[in-house]
Amino acid sequence: MWLDSHCHLTADAFNADRDAVLARAQQAGVEAFVAIGSGYGIAENARAVALAASDPRVFASVGVHPHEAKQWSAATPEQLTGWLASPRVVAVGECGLDYHYMHSEREAQRAAFAQQVALARQRDLPVSIHVRGGDSAAFDELLDIWRSEGRGELEGVLHCYTGTLEFALRALREGLSISFSGILTFKQDRGLRAVAAALPLEKLLVETDAPLLAPEGLRGKRNEPAWVGRVGEVLARALGRTQDEVAAATTRNARRLFRLPEPGAPGRP
Ligand SMILES: [Zn+2]
Ligand SMILES: [Zn+2]
Repeated sequence: MWLDSHCHLTADAFNADRDAVLARAQQAGVEAFVAIGSGYGIAENARAVALAASDPRVFASVGVHPHEAKQWSAATPEQLTGWLASPRVVAVGECGLDYHYMHSEREAQRAAFAQQVALARQRDLPVSIHVRGGDSAAFDELLDIWRSEGRGELEGVLHCYTGTLEFALRALREGLSISFSGILTFKQDRGLRAVAAALPLEKLLVETDAPLLAPEGLRGKRNEPAWVGRVGEVLARALGRTQDEVAAATTRNARRLFRLPEPGAPGRP
């Protein structure tokens, strides 16, 4: 069984057929989902919280995406705290630094990320982290903030990882896990598969980041959680493991990181 550790289930792209998308994923062996509330405007986090409250397979993560850092206001911390009170919210994020697209100024991105790491520490929650940069600045500054605001007390995951092996190994030493998306399957991204091959399976997660980043063979289509196994299949090949081993390990890793109840367990209210 797979677990999609990062998908945007409340994106408008799924409005017409969300139930069918979740059913197809379940058919494909996806037992649970972490629905990321950020990425489509801060207020949209509420939709992820509501979806998680209404579907036992879905858990939510709430935060402010680096693209949306410029929307951060005096009211934002209280808004986030309100959503984090829901027992179905298992993480803060996705938050982080994106110096590639630069939809928000660097200073605003750093401030928003720092405040969210601090919030995660206060609430004792893991963090789903987005990092992307034309040079290594985003990566270096991200780890600096993670260290200063997290104080070594936090765990988190670098989602949709596309960085170097050297940075991934540094991140592992800072309590972070690494999650791979459909980019791992792209024909031209051989270097990323080499990075994955050198990482310990017990620190790896898989995700779709749906509706974006459909895997090789389906590129250009709307991505959906049913295809997370295609990422896992490529990861298994890179690691020289069986798909079953990688499915079991990545699902166990995600459940441990996000502290999810076992399927079928009474869980939290
Ligand atoms: Zn992201
Ligand atoms: Zn995302």
